[in-house]
Amino acid sequence: MYPVMLSLRGRPALVVGGGEVALRKIEGLLGEGARLTVVSPEVVKGIDDLAGRGALSLQRRPYRPGDVAGSTLVFAATDDRTVNARVFSDARDAGIWVNVADDPEYCTFHLPARVQRGSLQLTVASDGSAPFVVRRLRQLLERRLGAEWSEWTDAAARLRQAVRALRLPGATSERIYDSFFASTVDGEKLRARVPRAAEMKAWLAPRAGEGTQSEDARTTGAESATLLQFGARAGPVPGPRPGLVSLVGAGPGDPGLLTLRARQRLLAADAIVYDRLAAPALPCDLPAHVSLHCVGKEAGHHPVPQEEINALLARLALAGKRTVRLKGGDPFVFGRGSEEAESLRPLGIPYEIVPGVTAGIGATAYAGIPVTHRGESVRLTLVTAHECSKGSGPQVRWDLLAQDPNATLVGYMGVANLPDVAARLIAAGMPASTPAALIAHGTRATQRTVVSTIGGLDGAGIAAGVRPPAIFVIGPTVRHAATLDWFTSRPLSGERIGIFAPAADLGQALDVAGAELVETTRPLTPAARVVIEVAPLTGWLLHSAEEVGSLEEERGIPGWSAEMHAFCLGAAAAARARALGWRHVTELAEEAAPAAVVAAIASRSEFAAFAARKG
Ligand code: SAH
Repeated sequence: MYPVMLSLRGRPALVVGGGEVALRKIEGLLGEGARLTVVSPEVVKGIDDLAGRGALSLQRRPYRPGDVAGSTLVFAATDDRTVNARVFSDARDAGIWVNVADDPEYCTFHLPARVQRGSLQLTVASDGSAPFVVRRLRQLLERRLGAEWSEWTDAAARLRQAVRALRLPGATSERIYDSFFASTVDGEKLRARVPRAAEMKAWLAPRAGEGTQSEDARTTGAESATLLQFGARAGPVPGPRPGLVSLVGAGPGDPGLLTLRARQRLLAADAIVYDRLAAPALPCDLPAHVSLHCVGKEAGHHPVPQEEINALLARLALAGKRTVRLKGGDPFVFGRGSEEAESLRPLGIPYEIVPGVTAGIGATAYAGIPVTHRGESVRLTLVTAHECSKGSGPQVRWDLLAQDPNATLVGYMGVANLPDVAARLIAAGMPASTPAALIAHGTRATQRTVVSTIGGLDGAGIAAGVRPPAIFVIGPTVRHAATLDWFTSRPLSGERIGIFAPAADLGQALDVAGAELVETTRPLTPAARVVIEVAPLTGWLLHSAEEVGSLEEERGIPGWSAEMHAFCLGAAAAARARALGWRHVTELAEEAAPAAVVAAIASRSEFAAFAARKG
């Protein structure tokens, strides 16, 4: 099927039939300005009215061979299949395009479903084998696409007319169209904004004073001089305009803690430069063409030096790429985000800061430790413990921090320096019995909290085998962890489950039960592979044998573990998983209710915890 848009203005078209279906076709055709003849012994009122108003020519009689002659398009919508068949063969033999309603066999063309917003039309079509899909997609678009698209399309047409009148080099015009699109369309929400006249002017004159446009696009002598000047200066095009660099906070690890702005920027990016700490928050549905640059920063691995990161950001932005610098937590909290912004500024590269949930706020909340609490803690200090070991002399006044019993102290980068920090605080007068906690992998499925006192924390942390990244929290509110722990007490806490497009109710049930869901596409996107590498899954929830099969190519990727569990909905999926050598397969009913899925994963989870306790 080859899609075309036909101009029917003033063209003759024939409709055979006089019912409601015919009426809908007639209205559509009249809307496009066709010259219409309707043949039918009886017609519904709507058609009668149109004929009465002279909108169409009505022949109240049965169809006769020869009626099709001279028409550009022919439609049949009678309830008599033999009549429809005759119309079809007459038209086909005469070389005229013909469509019989709801009878694909008798069609030489089909009508797509359409969504119309002014002169903008979106059409949906398939080969006719599943019309309900087309109907539903059309309904979906009809709901999602606001009325503003009509006016927006008109504005786009005005902009194009104005741009053409300026006779700019092609690349410059495209840049103007890019600006228009980027600042008026929200691609994720499918929303458009109609730009103000002043904005339109600004796009047409990217640099102040260079070429403006009269409202009616007529060019006076003086104007043409400036326009020519603009054209001359704009071309040859001096490389693309630098892309925006977004310094984005990824939060502490739980991808659900990404801000909406962060997700928008990630999905719209051409390039993403990320730290390992930030990687678990990469959206798994990130388009495959986005280039991903890992700049390390993991204890033990050689981090990429800051200057190289700065240079990489500049290189990407100057090549015109929309670049996201994704950093763990918040970019301005011990994140060197400000240094990166400062390196971009002198190069004229535009940047923005998208704050994130910092580990000190996120990890504590997930551990049930309020950072302030009425009557207990009225001050929160975020401090780096890294500096403690440096020879350059202490910048942190541990002595002052030790003196305030109604405060919470959250230390970053401190696992290695914890004994040193504790010794300084105790020496400066902090009671060794002050409650203190270590929170490792905060907000992730692997979160661990060790609660002790400042005197005992280091030993307790070592005993529990705490591994970075971790923060320590010191202060009276740490006591609340015993009662407020909500995160690790949920039935599926600790589970990280890969899943392809779950039904909404199942996804929500797993999420509420405490599982971290990694929703992926088939095949896995490069971003999903990174996510699985840095934060391995504990299992997959698989709906079909095909889904099981599609994972075969992934089984060698970094982070893949043979211990991963396959929770299979249906016998076929389970059989396939066993045949392919999955070690742990749980078979569930194909139509298992969300609660049953949760229960199955939870019992496996309890078993794993039991096995771990037994060593
Ligand atoms: N900009 C980040 C901090 C970067 S410094 C933020 O705002 O959170 C790196 C330190 O952050 C780590 O050494 C650790 O102390 C802390 N950290 C980061 N993510 C963490 C997490 N998920 N759980 C606990 N601590 C974390």
